[in-house]
Amino acid sequence: MSDTDDGGGQELGITESKAHKPGEWYAEVVQKAELADYAPMGGFIVTRPRGYAIWERIKDHLDGWFKSSGVQNSYFPMFIPESYLEREKDIVEGFDPEVAWVSEAGHEELEERLAVRPTSESIITPFIARWVRSHRDLPMRLNQWCSVVRWEATDTKPFFRTKEFLWQEGHTAHADEDGAWTETMARLGQYERLYEEVMAIPGLTGRKPEHDKFPGAHTTTTIEALMPDGKSVQAGTSHYLGTSFAEAFDITYADVDEAERTAHTTSWGLSWRAMGALIMTHSDDQGLVLPPALAPEQVVIVPIWQEDTEDEVLEYSADLAADLDDEFRVHLDDRDERNPGFKYNEWELKGVPLRIEIGPNEVADGEVTMVHRPDGESEVADRDAAVDAVGEALDTVYAKLYAAAEATLEENIREAHGRDEILGTLGQHGGYVRTGWCGDEGCETEIKDQIAAEIVMLPLDRDEAPVHDTCGVCGEPAADTAYFAKNY
Ligand SMILES: [Zn+2]
Repeated sequence: MSDTDDGGGQELGITESKAHKPGEWYAEVVQKAELADYAPMGGFIVTRPRGYAIWERIKDHLDGWFKSSGVQNSYFPMFIPESYLEREKDIVEGFDPEVAWVSEAGHEELEERLAVRPTSESIITPFIARWVRSHRDLPMRLNQWCSVVRWEATDTKPFFRTKEFLWQEGHTAHADEDGAWTETMARLGQYERLYEEVMAIPGLTGRKPEHDKFPGAHTTTTIEALMPDGKSVQAGTSHYLGTSFAEAFDITYADVDEAERTAHTTSWGLSWRAMGALIMTHSDDQGLVLPPALAPEQVVIVPIWQEDTEDEVLEYSADLAADLDDEFRVHLDDRDERNPGFKYNEWELKGVPLRIEIGPNEVADGEVTMVHRPDGESEVADRDAAVDAVGEALDTVYAKLYAAAEATLEENIREAHGRDEILGTLGQHGGYVRTGWCGDEGCETEIKDQIAAEIVMLPLDRDEAPVHDTCGVCGEPAADTAYFAKNY
């Protein structure tokens, strides 16, 4: 049996190459690392325990930050009456092609069709309107962790493209524009923090062009992450909704001077697409690579023994595992039906950030040998200092992942001006192309039709001078700097 044979003759390791077949490689990593499987209905996936454990950690980080900044969790029905959905016309138009409807239940036709929520503004905002009476009730900040359904006819790609996906959606109401804007930016900042500090992925923050805003929003802000295949992922969005939803659903409040005023609202969401970005960014031809903060097991200890050294090696390993267990998520792989090489491959495939090898030499010298998942670098530490050494090694693993992703991002932001140069640069390198933009959607369409790249963002600061005086496509005066990229 080879080191990568699972015993049943099926190849355990990844067979496709990330560089040459990123789509097939991604699907293989997701399945073989046991993150997800395909459901019987096209467009749906089953999230397996190892995948769900990663989502739970993403959720725990964000949820903690939300709660410590004034957000309360709540839960609203997954069905929205058609008449509610119709009250904000942009939402209806924006989501209409993707809404799944329930029109019949228990053999009866329903009096009113129910939409399976594609997003929940239309069911949450009317309740905020009911609960807000005076300025003392503001700001009101609600969040829910749930799934939504958008019936898109595209190929299934686990965590990137599925008809049902897990996410959180936050919905807030504020007395004025300032309060709502501060909220919008605070949530975008938390998404950025999640990507950078937890997921080891640097993001670019910006706003969407007018024609690509969330339906009904005044401004949609976004965090974009660059994938190794040169495409951008919209990694989280935070919307300042102005008063459009408050007007449609009547969120008014009595101000300090007793005057009745209309609230300003926001909504913001981050989905399990973050997991897709995570898998895609760091993983390699050996399988999944995870940053320590999200790994179900942070450390795996692999004892290496012969018959005559078994007892001492296993005892030393078990003692080490017990020591590390207080601070880290540790797994001791003492299966005796598997050889060490097989175990190395399996834990590499599953993305454990740090492997500790313990053989007779380590026992004799009072040492531990640690191997970093991302690059295979190994280091030796004293057994007595193992807890600190493991902590430092995990920090180093995080730093390596972040540095690699940051280098990729920096190398892949290029400037171009003129239709041919923009198309040539995107075609050759992918990544982001910065250029001046007049603000006309037609100039985006011209690029999109040629190369399927679009304007993924504009700078957050509306007053920032454009990178060029003229539009990179039509040559008219530029109003903004556009970031063109192919995207997911
Ligand atoms: Zn133009």
